[in-house]
Amino acid sequence: TKHVPFSSPFLRDCGYVKGEWTRGEATKTFDVLNPATGEVLASLPDMGAADTRKAIEAAHAAQPAWAARPARERSAILRKWFDLMVANADELAAILTAEMGKPFPEARGEILYAAAYIEWYAEEAKRIYGETIPAPSNDKRMIVIKQPVGVVGTITPWNFPAAMITRKIAPALAVGCTVVSKPAEQTPLSAIALAVLAEQAGVPAGVFNVIVGQDGPAIGKELCSNDKVRKISFTGSTEVGRILMRQCADQIKKVSLELGGNAPFIVFDDADLDAAVEGAIASKYRNAGQTCVCANRLYVQSGVYDAFAAKLAAKVEAMSVGNGFDAGVTIGPLIDAQGLAKVEDHVSDALSKGARVLTGGKRIAGAGTFFTPTVLTDVARGMKVAREETFGPVAPLFRFDTVEEVIQQANDTEFGLAAYFFAGDLKKVWKVAEALEYGMVGINTGLMSTETAPFGGVKQSGHGREGSRHGVDDYLEMKYLCIGNL
Ligand code: ADP
Repeated sequence: TKHVPFSSPFLRDCGYVKGEWTRGEATKTFDVLNPATGEVLASLPDMGAADTRKAIEAAHAAQPAWAARPARERSAILRKWFDLMVANADELAAILTAEMGKPFPEARGEILYAAAYIEWYAEEAKRIYGETIPAPSNDKRMIVIKQPVGVVGTITPWNFPAAMITRKIAPALAVGCTVVSKPAEQTPLSAIALAVLAEQAGVPAGVFNVIVGQDGPAIGKELCSNDKVRKISFTGSTEVGRILMRQCADQIKKVSLELGGNAPFIVFDDADLDAAVEGAIASKYRNAGQTCVCANRLYVQSGVYDAFAAKLAAKVEAMSVGNGFDAGVTIGPLIDAQGLAKVEDHVSDALSKGARVLTGGKRIAGAGTFFTPTVLTDVARGMKVAREETFGPVAPLFRFDTVEEVIQQANDTEFGLAAYFFAGDLKKVWKVAEALEYGMVGINTGLMSTETAPFGGVKQSGHGREGSRHGVDDYLEMKYLCIGNL
């Protein structure tokens, strides 16, 4: 593989522990690839359990002083970090596109979205209110205070290399927790860049640590079994979420889990079809279909099935696939060969069981891991696209007739993260919105993620919420104070 080192003032070829850029005890390195070209962008030290332990110790030592700072001081540091991210959005977006592949304008959008969580929690830091409770007898007074849980371990995926991290770190730091962060092995450079800016913003040594390494299981095990870590916050697959929850059981360690989805996207006969097509494009093809809230199963009512399919296919055909740095590109590569193989497998499974390709359906030959944006019709329940998260630019269109039938099918999954539907009739809107067993429902829109709203799932899609005023709750303990003998 060709080495084309990526240079930026916001990169280091190191992890970040106790305020120092370090290769730790790593004895080997691992490569970070550009998925659009297959080139090696960087070789990083392969840090593991021993370095994780040191980072935990640093975070543990730094936590009391960080928590003791007045909220407005923590707030001011976070605000500065936000300002630095916004001021350097182009540089950060370039790092993100290089290591992850998403088109540069989308990467820039992610940087601003990621920064928005820091801004939001810089503000919320000052609003961690407790409560007073009327006592049942006159000689007592009852108060509830909120305190930080302590050291938090975060483990994040590659699909949003910046935003998945700030969603966790910002509320954690805002309320006085300290963090050991393990980014995905495919996309550690964005995490490094965030730490460079955090350092510049004045985040004290030990408060935010980054461990780069490719042995997720070893790093995860240390984070879960070290009793100095009081909470694990994870975004990734349900499979790994289950492992982490099991590992946290021994110490009854708190967990926040943002896991897989299998989002239904429903178009009713009375929907505004053009809006539904726009929504489907936004929800399905953003990040080449590699988001946990991407529409995975599209249910279209019989009366508009053919019209919707034709309109969607026309828009999808017009998409431009390529290197995320090229102007006009809307679909970048899939993250790696494994991701590409899964998408191919889902499409060939569907075709072997009777589905038809309306557009796309093929990988693109060459060095990068590209797949043509695809629309499949005549899709049925027994196919993999119905049950598993495809994580690629493939829209399978299922046909349905009644509201009851589609609600039943939409809920027929162990997942419960995001759902979408397009409809006109208000009665139906309420009925469907309340019946969908999901943590988030987009109604007549394909985009709903924002730092101001609670993001998270039900069923096997996870525990806890990120963003909004509720996002701090996962990082706080409640303490009840009862004053007697008054
Ligand atoms: P994805 O399919 O998005 O790669 P994963 O759940 O495999 O989802 O990975 C998400 C994150 O979890 C990555 O940072 C990865 O390194 C990490 N990871 C993978 N396996 C484990 C494990 N057994 N314990 C802890 N972290 C893990």
